[in-house]
Amino acid sequence: MKYYSTRKSTAVVDLKTAVTKGLADDNGLFMPERIESFDSAFFKNIANLSFQDIAFEVAKKFFSDDVELHSLKELVYDAINFDCPVVPVNGNIYSLELFHGPTLAFKDVGARFMARLLGYFLEKSEKTVHVLVATSGDTGSAVANGFLGVEGIHVHVLYPKGKVSDIQESQFTTLGQNITAIEIDGNFDDCQRLVKTAFLDAEINKQLTLTSANSINVARFLPQAFYYFNAYARLQGVLKEQNKEMVIAVPSGNFGNLTAGLFAKRMGLPVARFIAANNNNDIVYNYLKTAKYEPRASVQTIANAMDVGDPSNFVRIIDLYNNNFEAISEHIVGYRYSDDEIKSVIKHVFDEFAYLLDPHGACGYEALNQYLNNNQLGVFLETAHPAKFTETVEAVVGKGNVPLPLKLAEFMKGEKLSIPMSKQFDDFKAYLKELN
Ligand SMILES: *Cc1c(COP(=O)(O)O)cnc(C)c1O
Repeated sequence: MKYYSTRKSTAVVDLKTAVTKGLADDNGLFMPERIESFDSAFFKNIANLSFQDIAFEVAKKFFSDDVELHSLKELVYDAINFDCPVVPVNGNIYSLELFHGPTLAFKDVGARFMARLLGYFLEKSEKTVHVLVATSGDTGSAVANGFLGVEGIHVHVLYPKGKVSDIQESQFTTLGQNITAIEIDGNFDDCQRLVKTAFLDAEINKQLTLTSANSINVARFLPQAFYYFNAYARLQGVLKEQNKEMVIAVPSGNFGNLTAGLFAKRMGLPVARFIAANNNNDIVYNYLKTAKYEPRASVQTIANAMDVGDPSNFVRIIDLYNNNFEAISEHIVGYRYSDDEIKSVIKHVFDEFAYLLDPHGACGYEALNQYLNNNQLGVFLETAHPAKFTETVEAVVGKGNVPLPLKLAEFMKGEKLSIPMSKQFDDFKAYLKELN
């Protein structure tokens, strides 16, 4: 399968190139040139398949031209080593819990898959590939844990000193093996500048193979389609019995998750409607109301993984629908929530239904609560475990009501290992030149 750029001013590339480069030469995002549908036999049998089986069937539709089947199977089953269960919350509203992976957020799915796919492509090469990531917190942990132990790849995580939480820091500084954490005496922008400068440095690139594990990578966003099919498989019985259609609410920031859902629908998944749930960064909400896309600087909210003012994957949605606003707004409805609204939803759902939402999932839950009619059943994506936002959530539901999951506690016990570094590029360059 070939991949084209959303800007369409550069040649198509193969999967290996799309995954290693991340971004197309014309700065567009890669799109697969075909989206194949499943036949009715697949949907007839889907309830009998495990999440891993489903993931493999979906992966085959995209990757079987480029990856030998037995290797694809191995890498899917290895990447998807945790469940994404569907849990009833209230009436016809269900939570698709995407936080059972190593860093307790949905980004584990894409990061683990991408790491293994990259590992597969590099298997035959002698040279180590160096992944450089700048992080303000969560991306670093998903990427570091995703790539942990993958042969032939070394990950270097740059993070701003004193500006990430202890829990976040522990998730990428305690791993060892092929993961090195670098604590930069500066802010997130300094970390990002160092990484970008390294990618442009001729001398470094001659010596080392560098790549990024950016969230716009096709190998990170396409696997997110896996769990939409899983949600349907787990609910098919209820949907049929109650003669209802499925609506899915997606807490959205960069819109990779929602785009993957739209791909699943294009592959035949029966989703009546998607809801894009935003916080105060309501650019897509406004677009769905006015047909005008007006990006602007992001504002800070308590659902901070959705604080995005110009969602990168929006161009993928435009491309998927040939910029047909009517078609887009027929498939996607927008909702928007302020911090106060998010807090009151978390409190209400905890008090009434004993379910603990995180600030992102809360937007998805409430959108369903407002949107659903009696013929519909709603699923919201619970994108992270509430304990990743303990301070915010405890302030709402009371101290002691947000238990720390074992996985996070384990990270906190590990020994913090990181290399202190200035924000001068010369220092980072000297560090890179020691590598091979
Ligand atoms: C990244 C993230 C989001 C936003 O997902 P997009 O694919 O960027 O729209 C939502 N919730 C959490 C917890 C996240 O980490």
